[in-house]
Amino acid sequence: MTGTTVLKTSESSWNECLSIIKDNIPEQSFKTWFQPIKPLKLEEKNLTIQVPSQFFYEWLEEHYVDLLRKTLKSVLGIGSRLEYNIIVENGQAGSSPYTVNMPTNNTGKNDNIGVTMPLNLGGTIKNPFIIPGLRKVNIESNLNPSYTFDNFIEGDCNRLARSAGFAVASKPGGTSFNPLMVFGGVGLGKTHIVQAIGNQIKMNNRNKVVLYVSAEKFMSQFVDSVRNTTTNDFVNFYNYVDVLIMDDVQFFSGRGKTQEIFFQIFNQLHQTGKQIILTSDRPPKDMKDIEERLLTRFKWGLSADLQTPDLDTRIAILEQKMYSDGITIPQDVVEYVAHNISNNIRELEGALISLLAQSSMNRKEIDIDLAKQMMKNFIKNSSKEISIELIQKLVCDYFNIAVDLVKSKTRKREVVQARQISMYFAKDMTKASLKSIGSHFGNRDHSTVIHACQTVNDLMDTDKRFRADVEELNKRIKISTL
Ligand code: ADP
Ligand code: MG
Repeated sequence: MTGTTVLKTSESSWNECLSIIKDNIPEQSFKTWFQPIKPLKLEEKNLTIQVPSQFFYEWLEEHYVDLLRKTLKSVLGIGSRLEYNIIVENGQAGSSPYTVNMPTNNTGKNDNIGVTMPLNLGGTIKNPFIIPGLRKVNIESNLNPSYTFDNFIEGDCNRLARSAGFAVASKPGGTSFNPLMVFGGVGLGKTHIVQAIGNQIKMNNRNKVVLYVSAEKFMSQFVDSVRNTTTNDFVNFYNYVDVLIMDDVQFFSGRGKTQEIFFQIFNQLHQTGKQIILTSDRPPKDMKDIEERLLTRFKWGLSADLQTPDLDTRIAILEQKMYSDGITIPQDVVEYVAHNISNNIRELEGALISLLAQSSMNRKEIDIDLAKQMMKNFIKNSSKEISIELIQKLVCDYFNIAVDLVKSKTRKREVVQARQISMYFAKDMTKASLKSIGSHFGNRDHSTVIHACQTVNDLMDTDKRFRADVEELNKRIKISTL
């Protein structure tokens, strides 16, 4: 090297920056956010640094832009600029990452997360689950060991969620399913599947810190931490977790501060390769009053839905429940229950328990009669009138055609069939006159209705499949009005 002044390189300047930054932020944050950064080049007063992801860049810009600006100024002088080089993974296995350059926004805007990171982290961090302090190994997972993959029956309704869950369980943080978001209606197995993932991870590796928490619990912990001014501890506690399972995130709706803190935790975990698993009773696009940036995060990984199970799956679930509880129930009763409770697995299990209870209380065998009696407790609106509209809807749903079609002039075969079957049930199950029935089907006259009823009766005698359809519909209509 010639000359008297020591030439600054990107490395030496960045090292100088680091030593300043280190003194101004907690060690944990320093390690997380600054150690992974690589200085790339220094041109005049422009320093380019490489950061591992877009996330990282956003985080630095959101939280440390002031610090970075001041630090750079003191190291490189007035007019210095920072540029980021971001490694972008496109999520496809095997494809190599590319980089993009981003200037710092250097606006000096303030940290807009409601809670500032502590400037001095003490040696202990409070565990909001078990107060006081914690060691890593002491974190309770809050997992219920009875939720496993083994007893989570697979069906078309849950195949994607189940296999994605399984992949995540075998490689937490190492798949593109991060976060994994499982959504679906009440009682369809969201909690079961995410707990199964947690249990499986614990089984594969005892040392992984897995934490299951409901969004409600998280929220109340956060509120407590604000009251007790222990929010930093709260955040730091969550940052210790390797696998965070947050159940029912729809509860974050409208809770701005909780969302902010969760966003912060989410970013920190995701950034450091930790696995995040979420559940919600609706898909991200239908979540209300959740900040856009949080929703965006939710969509980053995979959203897999749980649908209502089909009859075979419902029977299989009941059977495995009976098996694990050591109960036997006649097959026809199992089928009856599975048939009648179709959109909620929790209710399905409830019906089984209720049957057992009634049978032992009344010292009665479990049979169809008992099942029928019991079923009344499960189905509301027991004396609802059957209407022609309801029949049309159920029949059309069953054949998967639009209701309007049975009222139209269409002579398409499947529409004619749905129309005739609907007329047949209308005649059979309502008190409506033939004329009135006809008027519900695009003003057809009474002779059309008579002809429809005859056709249905004839086909029932001669066509086994047709008969099965009509019988199934008969059940559905009756059940829907019990
Ligand atoms: P959610 O969290 O979606 O409201 P849960 O996970 O609490 O639903 O599930 C309700 C009940 O149904 C639980 O007892 C669960 O074990 C059971 N269950 C749900 N799906 C299945 C399945 N595929 N196989 C076996 N049991 C299931
Ligand atoms: Mg649940």
